[in-house]
Amino acid sequence: MSEHATLPILKTLTIPMVGADDSGTPPWEQLRELYKIDPHLSAAAALMSASVLPYLAGDTGAVLAVAAILAVQLLMRFVADRRFRRRSADAAFKPWLDGFIIISIFSGIAWGASLAILYLGASPEAQVVVLAVGCGIVQSAAARAYMAPASTALVILIMIGIVNAAALSEGNWLMLPICLAYVAFQANYMRRLIGLEQSRFAAEQRTSTLLDRLAESNDKLRQANEQLMRHATTDGLTGLANRRSFDADLDTAMAEANRTGEPLSLLLIDIDHFKRFNDTHGHLAGDECLRRVGQFLVDECNHLPCHPARYGGEEFAIILPGAMRPEAEAFAMHLLEQASRLDLTEIAAQATPITLSIGIATARTHEHNRTLLDHADQGLYAAKQAGRNCVRSREMAAPIGTPA
Ligand code: GH3
Ligand code: MG
Ligand code: MG
Repeated sequence: MSEHATLPILKTLTIPMVGADDSGTPPWEQLRELYKIDPHLSAAAALMSASVLPYLAGDTGAVLAVAAILAVQLLMRFVADRRFRRRSADAAFKPWLDGFIIISIFSGIAWGASLAILYLGASPEAQVVVLAVGCGIVQSAAARAYMAPASTALVILIMIGIVNAAALSEGNWLMLPICLAYVAFQANYMRRLIGLEQSRFAAEQRTSTLLDRLAESNDKLRQANEQLMRHATTDGLTGLANRRSFDADLDTAMAEANRTGEPLSLLLIDIDHFKRFNDTHGHLAGDECLRRVGQFLVDECNHLPCHPARYGGEEFAIILPGAMRPEAEAFAMHLLEQASRLDLTEIAAQATPITLSIGIATARTHEHNRTLLDHADQGLYAAKQAGRNCVRSREMAAPIGTPA
């Protein structure tokens, strides 16, 4: 908001507006409503209808004067409305707010003057019509008062004041108490309406705050759920998928293999003589070694549609969807070769390279998970029996890999 200078009277007339910020400034949407020309067209139409009786009575001068006043007033509102709609995106708020108050005061004077002109010298019937139209205009202004209470009150007072002065000039003193009672009635009406709007606005604010809080809680809940899910499916030491997650993955992979008829191979990988590693270098070094082997397997699987899991202890498992036995064996041999190059001296200065034993099973269609696991386990057992640091497939006739 710019530091546009404001006359004290304008400042007073901008407060209090429902939905306004701490400084009493209403939002742009309210100002857009206030600038709209529609209520002024209705008021002009009502005033012109009140001109019919004076016109029929031959008071053409009064009718022309009213038409001229209303034409100027409507032209001014039309230009203001148009300019408001076409204001630049970075327009300062205050000049537009002050502009609205000034044209509102002018509208009050124009309506009051039109009513007074039509009232003066008119027949009693015509005067009743004029007063009824005046009441209608006051009522419709009061109904929008919550957007600009002080300036609306001023506009109403100007109109009633001018009409009252016209009545008094004709010696109609009775009009004064009637007008005072009418003003009191309208003030009460506006107060109640503003109160209602204020409660509605406060309820809207509360709802919006509650919705924000709800969205925040939902977000926290979603994050907590994600974390819980991660914990439930991840091995705490290596960060690999844990046994629970592996079991679920194997179910899914087997179902998919059964559906498509594609082969599926399973590798069970065991670190050789790991107990000895622990005994020699300590359990903490053993933990670190498990992490390194886990990361090594992740890196090796990087380019493949698979991810390793910690099957338990110092054992790992890899599901290879779509892999026939020869491909699985080639990959397992590659793992043996690369594992022997793992440098563990950062973990324990005297550490010698580790070796792996790997058991492989390749699923035939409609084979059960347990059978596949069992076959891979048998392959692993055979690899251990063959002297470790080698690969065995359960069905294989000839051993592959080199015994340690
Ligand atoms: P093999 O070649 O026959 O597999 O011999 P191994 O010593 O590797 O196998 P064994 O089953 O005798 O011992 C496994 C060892 O793995 C014993 C256990 O303390 C160790 N181990 C299992 N889980 C962890 C772990 O989380 N951290 C550490 N540091 N050691 C573990
Ligand atoms: Mg083991
Ligand atoms: Mg072992």
